[in-house]
Order: sequence, then C-alpha cells, then structure tokens
Amino acid sequence: MDDIEVFDPRFASYVMGNAPLEKLATGYRWVEGPVWFGDAGCLLFSDIPNNRIMRWIEGVGVSVYREPSNFSNGHTRDRQGRLISCEHGARRVTRTEYDGTITVLADGFQGKRLNSPNDVVVKSDSSVWFTDPHYGIMTDYEGYRAAQEQPCHVYRLDPERGELSVVIDDFDCPNGLCFSPDETRLYVAETSKMFDPEANRRIRAFDVGADGRSVSGGRDFYKVEAGCADGFRCDSDGNVWTSAGDGVHCVDPDGVLLGKIRVPETVSNVCFGGRAKARLFMTGTTSLYSIFLNRNGVQQP
Ligand code: MG
Repeated sequence: MDDIEVFDPRFASYVMGNAPLEKLATGYRWVEGPVWFGDAGCLLFSDIPNNRIMRWIEGVGVSVYREPSNFSNGHTRDRQGRLISCEHGARRVTRTEYDGTITVLADGFQGKRLNSPNDVVVKSDSSVWFTDPHYGIMTDYEGYRAAQEQPCHVYRLDPERGELSVVIDDFDCPNGLCFSPDETRLYVAETSKMFDPEANRRIRAFDVGADGRSVSGGRDFYKVEAGCADGFRCDSDGNVWTSAGDGVHCVDPDGVLLGKIRVPETVSNVCFGGRAKARLFMTGTTSLYSIFLNRNGVQQP
C-alpha cells in the first residue's frame, strides 16, 4: 500500500495489506500526547494551541475532555491507571485522580520553576520520568512566553516520597521518552534545532542502572532524517515506533530502520491502543490517525 514503506523483511510481517492508514478526526492545530484508556474505550490527546484535551471514542467521534488544559502536551497512565499529564501553561506534571481532582506531582526543582514538561512515562516501580524542554515558554502559542529558569533536563519523580531528581543533564532539548519492554534501556529524543537540517535530531539510548533509578551511556540510537523524533513508544518486541516528519518510523532495538508508515502530516507522537494494543494511534499536526498492526504495544496499564 502507498502508506507503507518496507526497508526490512521483518516489517512486512508487522503491517497488514488490508489495514490502511485511517484518518479518525481533523480540525486541530497541533495534536500531541495520545494515551489509550482501554477501560473507557477511548483515546485522549492534546490539542496544544487550542488549550484542550480531546477524547476520541470509536463509533462516536471526538469531544472535549478538558478545557482549558493548561496547554497540556504529553500524557501517560500510572500503574493505577490514572492520567498523568505534562502541562506547558502551568509548567508542571499532574495526576488526575479518580474523582477528577488534580494533584500536582512536580512544578519546580531546587526553588525554580520547571520550563514546560513535554512528555512523560511511568516505570513499573511507579516512578514518573519526564522531559522538560523550553518549547512551551518560548512563545504564547503553546503556553505562556516566559523566562527559562532551568536547564532542559530529564527528571525522575518518586511519587511516594515526592522526590524529584535530575537523571540526565546533557540534552539541549529532551523531548519524547520511553523504556524498552524490560526497562533496561531508556530512550530519549533530542529535538534541539528542529528547523536546522544539519542538526542532529536523534533518539539516544541510555542503560538503566541496577538500582532502577539512574541511567548511564546515552549513545546515539537512531537519527531521524525527516523532521524529528518527537514522541515514540515500544512494541512488545522492543521495536521503537517513532514520530517523524514523514510519518512513523519503526526501528529495531539495534537502531535499524525497518519500515515507515507514511502520514500526510508531520507526526508528533504515537501510542498503542485498541484491543490487544494492536492499533497504533498517531497525532499528526491537525489530525488524529491510526493503523492496525500485527504488533502489540507494551505501555502499561
Ligand atoms: Mg513532545
């Protein structure tokens, strides 16, 4: 099919000839942060410049889930299934409780405000890992323009103790992140100079320490030649499905590009959802897309 580009024979078995790219909804400004709620049969995603979180339900369509959303960006769910959100506008990471109230997990470090948390994942030990580039405070388009008080770090939050610590401090602009299925590896995207064709827009791979709290290394894992790797997720075999300027790239654990899903708009992020988590949802600039795959996502719950 036109939407599929196969670079490695393995990828031919990951896609299905009768499962086309689907455009589920459109009319947004810059969509991001898809997160699947199998229990509610819905997908939430951010429409950042419009300051709202949308909710898509199969067969029903899209409605507003939260507005204003404090210009929310990336989302995930914690081990109890609660929504975890990065908010540009309030420069914080929050948890939405079962009764709808919002708990602030992190909004500052060492007495200074965070920049604009961008993307977030929760590890099996319930720790919350997030990136804090300055994109959400550079302009008034995706938040509120403000002075940067912190370098752009990757943080780990221990929600039991409320302790926030810097786990990676050598990024210009860390963006998407996810763990490998066995959590021995952490992938983090560098998206600095995203409009510079010479810039090294890449995903880096870090080794998670035996303590489960620290990382080391940070080697180049995959360089995105089209656009940048904004957000990504792993399937259960450890392949990385990353957003890119020309759609979604599937990269094996050795960093080999296996294939692409061509999407007509720049993709910002992805998540697995649907039955058996065998459907890849893609937030693509003004639209929400999906494709059914012969792979399964691993993000929990
Ligand atoms: Mg992002």
